[in-house]
Order: sequence, then C-alpha cells, then structure tokens
Amino acid sequence: MTDLYQQTIVEHAKRPRNFGPLPGANRGAQGVNPLCGDEIELHLRVEGDRVEAATFEGAGCAVCVASASMMTLAVKGSSAADAARLMQRVRDLVAGGDGKNLGEIESLKGVARYPARRKCALLAWRALEAALAGEATQVSTEL
Ligand code: ZN
Repeated sequence: MTDLYQQTIVEHAKRPRNFGPLPGANRGAQGVNPLCGDEIELHLRVEGDRVEAATFEGAGCAVCVASASMMTLAVKGSSAADAARLMQRVRDLVAGGDGKNLGEIESLKGVARYPARRKCALLAWRALEAALAGEATQVSTEL
C-alpha cells in the first residue's frame, strides 16, 4: 500500500499535470512553504461558481508538486463549494483521516505520519482556498 502511494506521488512529481501558465486566468494565489522551500503559484479560471481550469507553476518537493498536480485535476469543473469540501477532506486525510473515494489524492495519506510534510501536501490546497476567496489578480473588462 505504502509503495503504491509513493509511486503515485513520484509519478505526479515527475510529470505534473496542468503545469504552466493559464491563459485567461482570473484568480490566483501564491503559496510558499519556507520550511521546505516549496513555492508555487496557482492560476484559476473561474466562471460564475465553477472552476473551469486550474494550473500551477513553481517548484517544490515531490509531495508538494504531486499534491498540486492532483489538486488541479480534482477541482477542474468543480463548483467553489465542492472544491471547499474536497479541501476539507484533504486536510482530514493528511491529519490521519480516511481517504475514501478521493482517488489518487489518497496517496497523500502517507504524510500523516510526518507532520512537517503535511504543509507540503496542503500548500496547493491552501493556495486554492486563497484564490477562491480572494480578489481577482487580473482584471478583465469582459467580466
Ligand atoms: Zn515540501
């Protein structure tokens, strides 16, 4: 089980999904975890209440990058409320809760045993929370 989880994390860290700038992004947030040196920037395109697209840039450890990669996959097409619920479930997961029906995200369960790594796993999710709550970082005359 542990190996399987690690494999998922390594695979996402090596080939992160949705990595790069996001044309038409209208929300964003930076996430920094000085304890580990993780620094990511999250880009979202939100239409109404829906996350139409999510990408991220930056650099971090395998757990941070893998978590960000899985997060962008998971929230694409979600409503803000669903994204918030998912975020809470991930918080519970890395605190030792169960990860039922979380799919690949369940692979982050392993960090529950390493409190310092929880911050790595949660960085992208904190950025998501900030981006969804915050003001647009880019303004568009079309909105
Ligand atoms: Zn880290």
